[in-house]
Amino acid sequence: VLRIYINQIEENNNINGHIIIFEDITLLKNLEKMRRDFVANVSHELKTPITTIKGFIETIQENHITEPKTLERFYAIIYEESDRLSRLVSDILALSQLENKGGFDKRYETIQLDTEIMQIFDILKLSAEAKNTTLVLTSKESIKLEFVADEFRQMMINLIDNAIKYSEPGNQVEVDLSEEDHNIIIRVRDHGYGIPEKDVNRIFERFYRVDKSRSKEKGGTGLGLAIVKHTVQNNCGKITVNSQVGKGTEFMIQLPKNKE
Ligand code: ADP
Repeated sequence: VLRIYINQIEENNNINGHIIIFEDITLLKNLEKMRRDFVANVSHELKTPITTIKGFIETIQENHITEPKTLERFYAIIYEESDRLSRLVSDILALSQLENKGGFDKRYETIQLDTEIMQIFDILKLSAEAKNTTLVLTSKESIKLEFVADEFRQMMINLIDNAIKYSEPGNQVEVDLSEEDHNIIIRVRDHGYGIPEKDVNRIFERFYRVDKSRSKEKGGTGLGLAIVKHTVQNNCGKITVNSQVGKGTEFMIQLPKNKE
């Protein structure tokens, strides 16, 4: 997309010539479109639980429902949908903070990675146990990383939580830490459903889900990987995915040891 400006050059009321400026605004237009799409998607995602909550409350009121079993079922749905709403809002906020702040104005801390991963395993213990999944840290190396503590935790929780969510019960999820040259490598591996090749490049997009109903059923917001990708990029890192349908998925994060 080109934007064209034409300016007349005048001297003593005489037109001496013209300046024509061509500006390539393709990137700007694309950014605008992405922003518009995001707002439309956010509105849609927020509307769905709100409509459900309102719908069930109206049904209870208008039909004067008092039967305890029915009420219990309706309240459970209302609770679940409010919970989804609150997760959505937190994820939208986290994403917008990551975008606005970039690498500035952050509190970096030294993170002892193995200790931190074990703490994250503790946080995810209940979800893992519910699916009879074993969480394993496969490396014994002691590695330190400079990072914003909350952001590191959120990034790892999102990846490990996905690994649990998108696997059959009774599987194992592995986290591996290593150092290579000037990088720290973190791998999160599962033996779950895997991701079809055609979707692999899109899973980091906001609200992109391979299987929408599966993601929703598992309580996903569709923003987890967008948050991970932003965090990695803000820290000059790279993230890659290796996946095979029916076999499993490995996410690999590469982070520079020293930020230049
Ligand atoms: P969601 O809240 O839907 O999990 P994410 O952004 O975390 O959103 O992930 C986007 C989509 O990528 C998911 O809906 C799922 O289809 C796919 N995905 C993410 N992690 C995995 C994984 N470990 N195994 C299989 N599919 C995955």
